[in-house]
Amino acid sequence: MGMEQIPHNFLTTRLEDLVKWARRNSVWPATFGLACCAMEMMAAGAAHYDLARYGMEVFRASPRQADLMVVAGRLSQKMAPVLRQVYDQMVEPKWVISMGVCASTGGMFNNYALVQGVDQIVPVDVYVPGCPPGPETLMHGILTLHEQIRTGDLLARRGAGRGVGIQVEQRDGTPVAVPARSA
Ligand code: SF4
Repeated sequence: MGMEQIPHNFLTTRLEDLVKWARRNSVWPATFGLACCAMEMMAAGAAHYDLARYGMEVFRASPRQADLMVVAGRLSQKMAPVLRQVYDQMVEPKWVISMGVCASTGGMFNNYALVQGVDQIVPVDVYVPGCPPGPETLMHGILTLHEQIRTGDLLARRGAGRGVGIQVEQRDGTPVAVPARSA
């Protein structure tokens, strides 16, 4: 039985808050880089930007241990079924960030070989702009996702089989402001 089916009272509300808090603080990305954007994703995980401080330092080698897919780079038609299979193997609830203009729209590669937007293959929750987006912009997207998970807005706003599709602005060159985080 999911928590949605339990009648609401004070205790279940607190329990729900606890579940959202735990989800927000333990988002684990799948190891999945497609092209040049993946370099910036790796930089975000390295010591200087230190994704570990958000509870998500471990890029999981198995999709069954991951709940975040960062589509980092252009997606070829041949790779699309593989991407979908990795997504299908991830645990629920799961989230998708489309990183970079190629992943979101095909970018400069307007041709038959590349998918013109990964939202044709998987539901996208956050679009991160840039070519490539730097670690600051990617982290801005990740923190936006975290906040949506904490409030529960992300799941509430999703339609069947569709992501929320939040578009964040570019933040490269500006320090990543660490938002005040509830305990
Ligand atoms: S958006 Fe730019 S950096 Fe990212 S995959 Fe496309 S060409 Fe490469």
